[in-house]
Amino acid sequence: MAEFSIIDQFCRDIGPKHSSTKLDIGDDAAVIRPDHGSELAISVDTMVSGVHFFEDVLPERLAHKILAVNLSDMAAMGASPKWATLALTLPKADPEWLSAFSSGLKKTAKRFGLQLIGGDTTQGPLSLSLTIIGTLPLFKALVRSGAKIGDEVYVTNTLGDAALGLALLSGKFELSPLNRAHAIDALETPEPRNEFGQSLLDIATGCLDISDGLIGDIAHICEQSSVSIEIDLDCLPLSSAYEEYIELNKLDPKSVSTLNYALNGGDDYELAFTASPEDAAKVLNRADECELSVTKVGQVIERESHKVYLCSNGARLNIESSDTKSFEHFS
Ligand code: ADP
Ligand code: MG
Repeated sequence: MAEFSIIDQFCRDIGPKHSSTKLDIGDDAAVIRPDHGSELAISVDTMVSGVHFFEDVLPERLAHKILAVNLSDMAAMGASPKWATLALTLPKADPEWLSAFSSGLKKTAKRFGLQLIGGDTTQGPLSLSLTIIGTLPLFKALVRSGAKIGDEVYVTNTLGDAALGLALLSGKFELSPLNRAHAIDALETPEPRNEFGQSLLDIATGCLDISDGLIGDIAHICEQSSVSIEIDLDCLPLSSAYEEYIELNKLDPKSVSTLNYALNGGDDYELAFTASPEDAAKVLNRADECELSVTKVGQVIERESHKVYLCSNGARLNIESSDTKSFEHFS
């Protein structure tokens, strides 16, 4: 299959055509004319076979995930996702694989209102790189630098499920079929929290999505807001899959090592954010409207170190930094 037939057959008509898109696939560059009075949020995420996913993952799921991880960055900024470009590197042009990949793209792009307006197609080891563009009202972006002492810290849904899924696929342990499927779905088809992220504009003081583990990611809010954060281990929201993992392996449910997937597991793509205690009811209301659970997991505290602290049973724990290591490339 030639490059141009790949583009024609599998990369066109992905997502809605926005009226502000002046040129899309077919020219040397796409052209967009953003509405007067809006700002653009722009981000890119790459997924490499063998690093970010197993080579034999279903192509529909891979397509969903490359969109989801990027949509999640828009959610974290409170931006409304609009456009994407996709750099696709393929070992071979397999029409069956491409057709499934393309229908995965279509389905998720449609659901989130994201239009594929361009990209690049090359031959090489399987890798996907997607640039996403979203719109924001002026001066409203949710950033990492606004957390205030006394704010409460929240996360959406449950934590650690994607890391459990990875451990299951790596054969580390087993779970019952339903919980196994739940954890693998969390890894392969994460659900970005776009509607909720946008509903946090005017509420969240600091926000990010958890891609590398709660502790490591929350530490970015600490650094950029010049605050410290205390996370209460007793409050971490765990799925029934996680609870089964604890029971089957006879683990101490309170220990940091048991909670390692929830604290440091990557690929969750839930939102972690801070908000004033005065807005607590609003936070819960907005989550309700989005049919999403949010859990208060800690608070922003005054401490010079600008670090993340863990507490349990009301007492601060002394934790080695090696116990709270999130994922980093090149480390
Ligand atoms: P160029 O002249 O810049 O090399 P290409 O031949 O790479 O352009 O691409 C032709 C058109 O197809 C461009 O509009 C480009 O954005 C689009 N395109 C290429 N690959 C993809 C892809 N994987 N997904 C979406 N659009 C693509
Ligand atoms: Mg060109």
